[in-house]
Amino acid sequence: MKKLNEAIKQQTIILEILASGNMLTTAKSKCIKESVQRLLDILTDEISDKRTPLASQTQLFSEVAASSSGSRHLKVANTGIAAKSPSPAVIIYPCKDSGISSSEATQATLQAAINPTKIGAKVIGLKKVSNNGLVIFTNSIIDCELIAKCNEINLAKLNVVFPKKRWPKIIVKYVPRDVPDDRIMKILIEDFGTDVSNNIKFSHLAGSREGPTCHRVYSTSPALRKKLVNQGRCFIDWNSCRIDDYISVLKCSRCCNFGHSIKYCKEEKPNCSHCASSGHLVSNCPSTSNPPKCFNCTITNKPSNHMTRINQCPELKNQLTIMINKTDYGY
Ligand SMILES: [Zn+2]
Ligand SMILES: [Zn+2]
Ligand SMILES: [Zn+2]
Repeated sequence: MKKLNEAIKQQTIILEILASGNMLTTAKSKCIKESVQRLLDILTDEISDKRTPLASQTQLFSEVAASSSGSRHLKVANTGIAAKSPSPAVIIYPCKDSGISSSEATQATLQAAINPTKIGAKVIGLKKVSNNGLVIFTNSIIDCELIAKCNEINLAKLNVVFPKKRWPKIIVKYVPRDVPDDRIMKILIEDFGTDVSNNIKFSHLAGSREGPTCHRVYSTSPALRKKLVNQGRCFIDWNSCRIDDYISVLKCSRCCNFGHSIKYCKEEKPNCSHCASSGHLVSNCPSTSNPPKCFNCTITNKPSNHMTRINQCPELKNQLTIMINKTDYGY
């Protein structure tokens, strides 16, 4: 902001000098235009600086705190995302000797075996998942237990599994790039105790790919995440490295969908992140002079008059909320 204020002062002086005198020459107009452009560039820089975390499809949450109502409700303070508990669910998988080879067959077998109304369970919806599985979303954990207790499901060679939430991720920022992982582990164990070794797992590097430092992302147990984020820093050699929550949503740069990267894209055609049309990438978009239209908000019927990759995107916020709900913060 300081940079911006100084630039405004400087550019205002230039404009005042140019405006003095009677004639507005071509040279003067050019200077005024350049001066205004410079202000716009600085302003754009300032804004994009603030957008950096989400522009790369990652979001840092310095506070993922339990709301006053406690329990499993989370409030993500600096994003305005109030994450609710997800619908309780159970997953049905076929046994190995069942001969079932699709989620559709699992669903047909399940529906022939039980009737939710007859066992007193309220089912909200079904969703196919990998390994021929089927998720049953219900109204309450009691409904899930009623389904899990049904012997008919086992007799139909199906298994009931309660979904596990994933470990939260944390990011350690500006770690010297040449420090090996086992040394960082030793430093963390000295700072945070011996339970570090079994409760943390390196995930990936983030931030710039070059330069003397990098950001390191780890999965941790909920208890260790709390310790690390509360302390907020670890000290590696001459560096004080900030520790923060890390929440990211994978987004495919080819089809714009969430949940996979370009390497695993199975969509037939690419989708454009500028005009939301199918069949071309943004690099070949014929409509770049038109206002942008967000691909993900268009298909989910949300306000879509923005670029597909901006951090104010309602559907991106929705996906981040889903990710938070799938994560075990220990609340
Ligand atoms: Zn894709
Ligand atoms: Zn396009
Ligand atoms: Zn959007």
